[in-house]
Amino acid sequence: MQYEFKKKKITVMGLGLFGGGAGVAQFLAKRGAHVTITDLRNATELAPSIKQLEGLPITYKLGGHCDEDFINADMIIVNPAVPKESRFIRIARDNHVPLDTEINIFFQLCPAPIIGITGSNGKSTTTTLTGKILQQTQRTTWVGGNIGKSLLLHLEEIKPSDIAVLELSSFQLEELHNAKKSPGISIVTNISPNHLDRYSSMDDYIQTKKGIILHQKPDDYAILNYDDPELRTWQKECKSTVLWYSAKDTLTEGAFVKNDTIVLSVKGKMTTIPCISRIRIPGVHNLQNILAASVAAYLAGTGEQYIEKAITTFSGLEHRLEFVRKINGIRYYNDSKATTPESAMAAITAFQTPVILIAGGYDKGSSFEKFAEACARHTRAVVLMGKTAKKIKELILQKQAQKETPSIFTSNTFQEAFQQANILAKAGDVVLLSPACASYDMFLNYEERGRQFKDMVQAL
Ligand code: ADP
Repeated sequence: MQYEFKKKKITVMGLGLFGGGAGVAQFLAKRGAHVTITDLRNATELAPSIKQLEGLPITYKLGGHCDEDFINADMIIVNPAVPKESRFIRIARDNHVPLDTEINIFFQLCPAPIIGITGSNGKSTTTTLTGKILQQTQRTTWVGGNIGKSLLLHLEEIKPSDIAVLELSSFQLEELHNAKKSPGISIVTNISPNHLDRYSSMDDYIQTKKGIILHQKPDDYAILNYDDPELRTWQKECKSTVLWYSAKDTLTEGAFVKNDTIVLSVKGKMTTIPCISRIRIPGVHNLQNILAASVAAYLAGTGEQYIEKAITTFSGLEHRLEFVRKINGIRYYNDSKATTPESAMAAITAFQTPVILIAGGYDKGSSFEKFAEACARHTRAVVLMGKTAKKIKELILQKQAQKETPSIFTSNTFQEAFQQANILAKAGDVVLLSPACASYDMFLNYEERGRQFKDMVQAL
């Protein structure tokens, strides 16, 4: 498809605050399009994104949408978070106005090969790490997508010999699927229930995630987590070559662990990287992220010395099992980004020492059964807060049967929860904020929750 944006009337539906909306609006305005941005939120709420667009000839229609912007337009760019059944999308369709997205335009126009990364948890960590490995080499590496940066703005600088690493959300994959596009190298980290408020069923959600492999060609690669039962069933639908990775089993091809080494076996070549004891990010889940990133980078032609250097120096991302401080022998970890039970379970099981867990928050309808079981087995105490506190407490009490641990507390405020955790913690323990829930009932977002936690730790 050939794109022509000059003098075209283009409506950007959903500016948002994650960079994609601002990126595509800037890209289109610079290419001479007449851009109208419309968003349900108002200018105050969208201030950071509007600031990025200062000085550009853009018309704003904020605080709601108008029918005419979906009728009298040459194209609508839809933000991935817009619900599929939006009345305005229907209006555009009824009026034969083509719909597109920021990520689809990038896929269409990017001259460099693309590594695409999706999964229910671990996308940002794996994307960042893959980028960090590739950045050790001479090859210019572009990291973007759902991670908060639109690469469209750099399109003119990207050369065919470069490489792009993109984090892809399920919403972005929906659009790529409609455009019948998949990356040349795809990674899927895992599949667990998420965003079931948007998808009608788990099958619907899985089908969307599959978009990352469904349109691959025979010489493409799908890098899949062998430790994930759902992903194991995907091979039959891959037209590309599947490379598995596992933190638990020995494989014949792909990436796995043997004693202190990572073994990479790709295209008949085997390489070993002795590094496990020097990895700085805790947990089996992070080892899986490392294996995925390593095999993707290796496949893209990166030498093992670069992989080794990046994975032994990477200390993780903010709010993802982030080590904050050690005081009086107690280690504090901020895992505020754990907004699902599965990600919090990964955190609880990452430590060999007793864990005092602070959890709970907004109720997005997740099932906490397995999470409660993990709490009952692997924590010494749990301090609960937020809307889900009562529900989680009852489940843990059911799961712990005759065992006395963990002790369970509920707190009305985050500060109170933090104080309670401190009363319980002893030298050698870990105090872990890993809420298993979104933050909206008490905070603006997970970042604010994580920052407040770190401030309280620093103030001790
Ligand atoms: P995403 O971008 O998919 O949300 P992140 O890398 O930002 O993933 O991590 C989100 C949360 O999930 C963090 O709490 C992190 O510790 C946890 N996590 C990271 N990788 C995994 C994984 N492979 N499996 C389960 N949980 C993970």
